[in-house]
Amino acid sequence: MSSTKTIVALSTPQGEGAIGIIRLSGPAALQICAKHVSKKILEQPANTTQFYRFKTEGAVLDEVVITVFKSPHSYTGEDICEISFHGSSFILNQALDALIASDASLASPGEFTQRAFLNGKMDLSQAEAVADLIASESEAEHRLAMHQMRGGFSEEINRLREELINFASLIELELDFSEEDVEFANRDELQALIEKIQAFVLKLIDSFKLGNAVKNGVPIAIIGKPNAGKSTLLNALLNEDKAIVSEIAGTTRDAIEDIVNFNGIRYRFIDTAGIRETDDVIESIGVKRSYEKMQSAALVLYLFDISETTKEHKIATDALRLKLNKHTPLLIIGNKSDQSTNHHKVDVLLSAKIGEGLEVLKDKLGEIMQISNLGKGDTVVTNTRHLEALKATNEALDAALTTLTGGLSGDLVAADIREALHHLGSITGAISADDLLGTIFGKFCIGK
Ligand code: GDP
Repeated sequence: MSSTKTIVALSTPQGEGAIGIIRLSGPAALQICAKHVSKKILEQPANTTQFYRFKTEGAVLDEVVITVFKSPHSYTGEDICEISFHGSSFILNQALDALIASDASLASPGEFTQRAFLNGKMDLSQAEAVADLIASESEAEHRLAMHQMRGGFSEEINRLREELINFASLIELELDFSEEDVEFANRDELQALIEKIQAFVLKLIDSFKLGNAVKNGVPIAIIGKPNAGKSTLLNALLNEDKAIVSEIAGTTRDAIEDIVNFNGIRYRFIDTAGIRETDDVIESIGVKRSYEKMQSAALVLYLFDISETTKEHKIATDALRLKLNKHTPLLIIGNKSDQSTNHHKVDVLLSAKIGEGLEVLKDKLGEIMQISNLGKGDTVVTNTRHLEALKATNEALDAALTTLTGGLSGDLVAADIREALHHLGSITGAISADDLLGTIFGKFCIGK
């Protein structure tokens, strides 16, 4: 499915750095370049870099080096020339205009990667991972995108599809012999297979919570009584003064969110209004939001002032555990260690004000999220399109199980399995509609 058009685009952000790379891909990439450098480029071996003078209208615009890749051994699967210019926006604009005048078409966003997909260089989930990789801002995000780009996710999906296809074809074969009442597909084995695949699909669906947290920042709610030191802790973590720190109880009225990267993970810290009963209308809205934020957090940090009595502390933590979702991990943090030597059972003891114990807290967070294992073994779903496809697969498998255990006819089972195969296939692009491709590649930046 190769294109006849040769596309061109600037591959580096304009005005950044000393080098600007213009990339051409398509059947005429070398010929178009030759018009501006020299015919010698037509003989330049693949995967080599050579020096040229780049000319526009006979005058030298810049001294460049050009790397040549030849079809099918290139990113897009087509002939590619990558021209490194000096990073002046004047030079780059002139060169781009000249190449377009020589019959290259300006690439649309993601068109290079789209061509790579269409030419079979990567599947859809790998292409999407390229976009994730470019957008990654933390080590964990980078690791997940890399795992997906290398095809870890696709391999598992394809393995499942193949197993299902085998059974589906056996059932379809039965339909051809329907007069003779034969059963090629062992129903018990089929049921076991569907259940196995379904368990795997559910595990992937489950992993999205973590995948999404890594991609958008792990949401952590900081809660505690007014004046426990929540805003001070947030500021210490952020190293800047975004939250209001005040000695008047109840000043943090609304939730403040901020994103901070440490130990390779992006966290989204949510400082909430203090949790306590209040008559102040605005503040009570804040308290309600605290509870909502708490429910959606991946982890709750409960911060308290260690100078409070054991009894006060117990009442507060008991009340908290009642409100908390059972699956959400809770870290109990004793604050103001610089001020008091009270002994309470805590997960972390710190002084938010002088910054003592912060590193212990940070390490604890990494441990709980088990981020160090990310991207090494289990596949983690990070993409909402994949999540939707997996949910649809799961529903189709449910239906297949119902028809199967209800002893209904083979063609109904076959239809449900085909439906499941369709949804699984949409993840890797084994089945893809043009409008879907448009949506996915349209999110890329130009030149990728
Ligand atoms: P919040 O209402 O929970 O957000 O509490 P704040 O962060 O506004 O802190 C309330 C008061 O406690 C402020 O005066 C802080 O300076 C003080 N504070 C916070 N953390 C510590 C700490 O570790 N040690 C001491 N001595 N004071 C602290």
